[in-house]
Amino acid sequence: MQATFWGVRGSVPSPITGKQLEAKIAHTIHYAIRTGKFTPETPLEEVATWLHEIPFEMRSTYGGNTTCLSVNCDDIQFILDMGTGIRELGLAQMSGIIKNKTLSCIALLTHVHWDHIQGFPFWAPLYLPRRVFNCSCTLYGGKTWDSQLELVLKGQMNAPVFPVNLEEIEQTSMKLNFNSIYDGWEGRFETRSNDEVRVLARKLNHPQETFGYRIEYNGNVFAFTTDNEPFAAGVPKGMIELVKNADVWVTDCQYTLQNYTGEVGGVPKHGWGHSYPEAIALIAEHAKPKRIITTHHDPQADDDTIWKIAHTVQQLTGIPTEAAYEGLVLDL
Ligand SMILES: [Zn+2]
Ligand SMILES: [Zn+2]
Repeated sequence: MQATFWGVRGSVPSPITGKQLEAKIAHTIHYAIRTGKFTPETPLEEVATWLHEIPFEMRSTYGGNTTCLSVNCDDIQFILDMGTGIRELGLAQMSGIIKNKTLSCIALLTHVHWDHIQGFPFWAPLYLPRRVFNCSCTLYGGKTWDSQLELVLKGQMNAPVFPVNLEEIEQTSMKLNFNSIYDGWEGRFETRSNDEVRVLARKLNHPQETFGYRIEYNGNVFAFTTDNEPFAAGVPKGMIELVKNADVWVTDCQYTLQNYTGEVGGVPKHGWGHSYPEAIALIAEHAKPKRIITTHHDPQADDDTIWKIAHTVQQLTGIPTEAAYEGLVLDL
C-alpha cells in the first residue's frame, strides 16, 4: 500500500505568501552562514544536500492545496477527497494514461464541503475523450446530504460558474459511477492478484454528514479521519473502529487547544468540526495507532505552527507523528 498526499490544507486553499517565503529564505541563509561551512567555492549540490537535511518547516512548506490523497493497493487506486490537490494528482496520472490509454480509480469522499471537492473540475483526466481513452471513476459518498454527491459535483460546474458541465463530460469523456455509503458501510475490492482490499466507513462528528475511512490491505491498515470534532463525552466506538491498531492514522488536527477554545485568536471554534492535539491524544490512547499524520492544516497556520501541532501530538501520545505535506509518500 502506498499513500501520497496531494493536498493537506483545510477549509480554503492557502498558498505560502511572498512575505513568508522571504522570511524563510532570510532565516535559512542566516542559519547557513552560522554553520561556517560554506564558501563561494562550495558546489551547489553540497548546499542542496545540506538544505535537505535541515528541519522541513525551515527549508520548505507544507503546501496550500486542500485535501486530496491517493492510496494505491497494487492496481487499485483510491482517491481520498477531491480538494484542489487533485489537480497535481491528475498531472501525475497523465503520463500513465497517455501510455496505457486507460485509468480506473475509486474516489472515497469524506463529505462535500468545498475544500474536499473543489479540485474536481480541474482534474485533467476528467476531460480525456472517450473515443481514445478508457477512463472511469467509481465514486462513493454520503446519501443524507440535502443533495446527492452527483448533484453537488454537477452544481459546482453549472454555468455560469464553470465553462464545462458535468453531463457533457459523462457523455463524452470519463465514465463516472456514483454510489452511496452509510455509517458502517463496508466495501470489498479485489486486486489483479486476487487479494482483497477492505474499506470501512464510519460517521464522524462534523457539520453535514462526514465519513472517516479505514483501508485494510495485505495486513496493513491505513486510517483517514479528516474533519472531525471531538465529543466532550469520550471517544465514539466508530472512531475507535476506524483507527484501531492502524499502521498509519491520518487525522484532522487543524487547531491548537488554545485556538479551539478561543484563548488564542479570540473566537472559540466549538461546533466548527475540527480537532486539536489533546483530542487526538485521547483517541490514540484508545485506538493505539502506530504512526500519526496530522492534516487539514488551518489556513491561518504557518509552517512553524503546523510543525508545533504535530510535535505536540507526538509529545502527548509518544507515537511517531509528523505533519502531512504535499508530496509526502508513505509506503506501508
Ligand atoms: Zn474540510
Ligand atoms: Zn468539512
